[in-house]
Amino acid sequence: MTRPTESVVDGSGARQDQGATARTPARPQDLPAVDRLLRQPAAAALLAEHGHTLVAGEARTLLDGLRTQALAGALEAAAVQPATLAAALEERVQARLAPRMRRVLNLTGTVIHTNLGRALLANAALAHVAAMMAGPNSLEYDLDSGGRGDRDSVVEELLCTLTGAEAATVVNNNAAAVLLTIAALARGKEVIVSRGELVEIGGAFRMPDVMASAGATLVEVGTTNRTHPKDYAQAITPRTGLLMKVHTSNYAVQGFTASVDEAEIARIAHQYGLPMATDLGSGALIDMTAWDLPAEPTPQQKIAAGCDVVTFSGDKLLGGPQAGLIVGRKDVIAQIRKFPMKRALRMSKLPLAALEATLRLYLRPERLAQDLPTLRLLTRPAGELQALAARLQPAVAAAVAPRFTVAVADMLGQIGSGSLPVARLPSAGLAIAPAQKKGAGRALDALAAALRAMPLPVIGRIADDRLWLDLRGLERPAEFTDQLPMLQAALRGQPDTTCHETA
Ligand SMILES: *Cc1c(COP(=O)(O)O)cnc(C)c1O
Repeated sequence: MTRPTESVVDGSGARQDQGATARTPARPQDLPAVDRLLRQPAAAALLAEHGHTLVAGEARTLLDGLRTQALAGALEAAAVQPATLAAALEERVQARLAPRMRRVLNLTGTVIHTNLGRALLANAALAHVAAMMAGPNSLEYDLDSGGRGDRDSVVEELLCTLTGAEAATVVNNNAAAVLLTIAALARGKEVIVSRGELVEIGGAFRMPDVMASAGATLVEVGTTNRTHPKDYAQAITPRTGLLMKVHTSNYAVQGFTASVDEAEIARIAHQYGLPMATDLGSGALIDMTAWDLPAEPTPQQKIAAGCDVVTFSGDKLLGGPQAGLIVGRKDVIAQIRKFPMKRALRMSKLPLAALEATLRLYLRPERLAQDLPTLRLLTRPAGELQALAARLQPAVAAAVAPRFTVAVADMLGQIGSGSLPVARLPSAGLAIAPAQKKGAGRALDALAAALRAMPLPVIGRIADDRLWLDLRGLERPAEFTDQLPMLQAALRGQPDTTCHETA
């Protein structure tokens, strides 16, 4: 860190006569030294609150930047006024302390949005995490015997009750669950998968690559659209370690298709003394059709069908924290649990506490649509959203006028995160359109940027020359409407063509 000009600056330079410096640019020697800036009352208050390290560091960086501007003759005299400098310092300190991960309002219409953190945790889960993390807990301690316990036992019994499986173990996420399952059961062996199920989930999770990472050899059978039982049977050799089915969660194969169901693949596998695993991805723990939502396979169905292992995510339809759940036959789960890679993929106590509390909600299915935010959002009736849109429309219209017009609109949302890919959720919200056709794209970008720049950023979706705000994700409307004056000010302050794309 260099402070080249400070000895020259130290002095009364900063107290220039304002009248004389108003038009001329500030000179480097007009800037105070760091210590002098820190003696400003406002800066002293910052020091008292945040300590010397942070505040002095930011003061140094601030003054270095201003000095560079002054040397270039590009610094306005007003910028070196003590009050201005103190305000700039406070802004820098606050910006440095501001978290990068921020709460946002998800008005995209996609309920389980991977980029926006997937499932929202239930209050019960939030409370349990807070309570368990505030002190020591029985993570790996058996309170009955006073001896060492296993962290899996926090949720194993619950998972067995809910899925009908004999045993269960958990890891960081479902990608880890699939990797571990394949590695533990088929490292150095062959794994048979249908060509119609070689999925890419996104974010570099491709079944063939996972297979390679796990040290197994993928044996593809059947064709993209049709795979038959005999395809599996004929591919089995002494090198085979596992038969696997992958739920095609983010796409659908339609038309002239045939696939082999789990029960049939499991029967073939067991004929040859081999295990059979299925990766469900989303893993709804309840029959979604009971809430008029599209059907999604459940782990309990797959266990009942004879699968030895079923893997699924914790933060998709299950509505819990990021987690990979592995349920199945006792001996197979034991083999997976003792595989060394398990230790590297093990779940932290934080999500484990959230997972336990989330799973407990499933013991009271009648209350689930109230208690579990994911299900609560998915089951909000379109009529309720239409009424909400009608109620918000006037205030939003006033805030974005005259550059935009606002209409109440029916929309089609989606569940998200690869769950039920073709299903659409009838929804409603506000469609905001630029008043003028000319420059409409830029106007929409500017509007989206202004929405993102609010204290609680609002994330919508641009399509068909409109910005769509699907209200399914808005449970507390005041969180949006309270910010409308800020949105209005931001739009008024913006020249028509600028687009503030700050990341
Ligand atoms: C989402 C998904 C995964 C990955 O699960 P994560 O919990 O995101 O790691 C794996 N397989 C399928 C079929 C999925 O849908």
